[in-house]
Amino acid sequence: MTVLDIIQPDNPVLRRKARRVSTFDRRFQKLVDDMIETMQETHGIGLAAPQVAVSQRVFVARLPDDSEEAREEFGEQAGVLYVIANPKLVRVSKEAEEGVEGCLSIPGFIGDVERPHAVTIKGQDRHGAALRVRAEGWLARVFQHELDHLNGILFIDIATDVRPMEEDEEEEEIGEESMAEAD
Ligand code: ZN
Repeated sequence: MTVLDIIQPDNPVLRRKARRVSTFDRRFQKLVDDMIETMQETHGIGLAAPQVAVSQRVFVARLPDDSEEAREEFGEQAGVLYVIANPKLVRVSKEAEEGVEGCLSIPGFIGDVERPHAVTIKGQDRHGAALRVRAEGWLARVFQHELDHLNGILFIDIATDVRPMEEDEEEEEIGEESMAEAD
């Protein structure tokens, strides 16, 4: 597996609407493996293909389970690896909440983003089989953040109070989509 370079907003791929995944071949499996490796290596909790300059509709996500706080915070969702291709939001909760987000593609900055508390996503797994996942809280936030990447949207487009991450927040940071308040 390879750790891939994460691109920043000066690369137009990050702003493009990504294409549907149509073949779940070996090359695609390698991309998924490399994205997982890259997410782990950068201590991210989510990574979308456009962030590694691949304009395809797939993202990976995994909430940490490497500390007691994380296990307490994320419960059953801690440590579960999600690979979702061609995701579609099929349900969103009326209830919304604000949370602090960051992004591996925009290092050093965070902002407050209001998003629905719970979402249901339909899509395909890494082999093309249909899947449906309901998520709430941080996982729902990560899914929405990653889905936005597939449409060329960055958190800074929808955040209020985008600001440099303070050093102490950086230390507490739990990952991509580095959600400074999640700890
Ligand atoms: Zn991001």
